[in-house]
Amino acid sequence: MYDYIIIGGGIVGLSTAFALSSKYPQAKLAVLEKEQELAFHQTGHNSGVIHSGIYYKPGSLKASLSKQGAELLRDFCDQREIQYEMCGKVIVATKQEEIPQLNNLYDRGLQNGLNIELINNQQLNEIEPHVNGIKAVHVKDAGIVNYKEVSKELGKIIQERGGEILLNTKVEEIRTGENEVEIGCNRGTYRAQYVINCAGLHCDRIAALEGIKTDMQIVPFRGEYFELKPEKHYLVKHLIYPVPNPDFPFLGVHFTRMIDGHVHAGPNAVLSFKREGYRKSDFNFKDFTEVLAYPAFWKIARQNLGEGFKEMLRSYSKNMFVKNLQRLIPEVTGDDLVSAENGVRAQALTNEGKLVDDFLIVSNKRSLHVLNAPSPAATASISIGRAICEQIPEP
Ligand SMILES: Cc1cc2nc3c(=O)[nH]c(=O)nc-3n(C[C@H](O)[C@H](O)[C@H](O)COP(=O)(O)OP(=O)(O)OC[C@H]3O[C@@H](n4cnc5c(N)ncnc54)[C@H](O)[C@@H]3O)c2cc1C
Repeated sequence: MYDYIIIGGGIVGLSTAFALSSKYPQAKLAVLEKEQELAFHQTGHNSGVIHSGIYYKPGSLKASLSKQGAELLRDFCDQREIQYEMCGKVIVATKQEEIPQLNNLYDRGLQNGLNIELINNQQLNEIEPHVNGIKAVHVKDAGIVNYKEVSKELGKIIQERGGEILLNTKVEEIRTGENEVEIGCNRGTYRAQYVINCAGLHCDRIAALEGIKTDMQIVPFRGEYFELKPEKHYLVKHLIYPVPNPDFPFLGVHFTRMIDGHVHAGPNAVLSFKREGYRKSDFNFKDFTEVLAYPAFWKIARQNLGEGFKEMLRSYSKNMFVKNLQRLIPEVTGDDLVSAENGVRAQALTNEGKLVDDFLIVSNKRSLHVLNAPSPAATASISIGRAICEQIPEP
């Protein structure tokens, strides 16, 4: 019998196990992961940005946990000698109409206590000589790291402390009794005092296995990327973002210098026909029909018809994608770009048809469920793990 079982070996599950093993060194815990390695899904397919927290509503979990989380992440990387770089980023207004929203972001960043500066196009050109912009916010507290590497290091520490990481172990059933939770997997049954659901793209299904009514469903959005050919890397010095659409939960196509030296361009955001579908052709009947049968999806689809249509066009037309990128860097051409690995985001949608903006964590007598942990959850992961730990009974 375990004190704690954590479902999901992504960065949120691992950070939770890490926090529990720090707070309760005697606790017996296990992380159950269905894949053959850790960080196989969202955590291993993200942009690798250490977000500053500028976008998030002051007072929200995203704002507080990302700021604190970024600091904890940097400390962790320093201690474990994991490479990261606080290269900073620019959020660029390319048209006059974007200035009010840029100013709003700047105010929000100040309210969130960030080290930011409003800069004109001359100052912008000193930081990013190839970017076309009229005004920008320079965010110094943004950086890059490899979250897969961070996850593997968390896993190593959890095991050194006596925790178990059980790979190829898929949770299929959950039965909650008076004194324990029984978790049925493809490789046998495990029992625990308490279970923590960090299953990312499948978190709603894990909650449903336990009979929890969540009033939400995960909708998978694929983010498709290109990368700059090495001879064009000079076009991007740091991280370059557009002013985001405030009605949309994604940040718009941007340029990201990765810690391994590659430069990614993207992503767009299209409905994925499979929860873990990284290619356009990926299709899963259950995943697809579940989305189509969810009335809230149609509500949100109607409300965002224009924006959704643009994203779809960008998915099928490289030209459209390039045109979007050229708003930021006019010199970029289609020939400079090759396809890169895609990612799929788990975005919670409520039964009322609202995209859940903040992190969403609900707890019960013997279970806790992380039901919305989109970006910047990788940045915030260590502080999310600590926050979860605070909500869980002692072993
Ligand atoms: C394209 C993209 C770009 C992003 N960029 C950034 C960024 O730059 N910075 C940032 O901070 N955040 C970013 N994010 C967000 C960040 O990657 C996620 O918020 C974070 O990785 C979520 O971690 P997680 O552990 O909740 O989910 P995951 O990493 O998806 O882990 C969940 C795990 O649960 C396992 N699982 C699911 N079902 C079961 C089951 N039945 N039994 C056992 N195991 C199961 C899965 O196999 C998976 O390994 C990005 C996300 C995407 C998709």
